Amino acid sequence: MSFKKQGDPKEIISMEKVEVCAPLIGQIVPVAKIHYFIAIEADIDFEGKPFEVDFNYKDIYNLEDTGYAIVGFWHTHPFEEHAPSYSSTDEQTMKSWCTTLGRDLLCIISNSKDFPEVFVFNRQGFVSKASLWKWGWSCDTEKGLNRLFVGSF
Ligand SMILES: [Zn+2]
Repeated sequence: MSFKKQGDPKEIISMEKVEVCAPLIGQIVPVAKIHYFIAIEADIDFEGKPFEVDFNYKDIYNLEDTGYAIVGFWHTHPFEEHAPSYSSTDEQTMKSWCTTLGRDLLCIISNSKDFPEVFVFNRQGFVSKASLWKWGWSCDTEKGLNRLFVGSF
């Protein structure tokens, strides 16, 4: 078992000149009025210019078809100094995915400085902000480490 450290996530993000995004697999579990979630970065990365990141829907469908539930998407806003917020493009993209997959989804946004922000969307738009309890790296040994997020809304 060997761990391939990718270094400080904040440094990695600040070095990246393009927006980076990845689908998140995991679980959202409703208990009474609280939804608990665990979300892990899936190994499909996309790069693009800021505001122009889009996903290959076939890769997403393949993930779903092989039994991995998409719980949302993670992406970076390297251009945003503090407390990243979703853009109108992000909202449109999230609404489309919520409609396509038929459920509410998480939109997690990192910048280079602050704790990532977690937004919950449904097919009508923004629903609420989620609390992020913990985030870090998973312990994958094959392809290095993937981001891991735990929280509630
Ligand atoms: Zn964005």
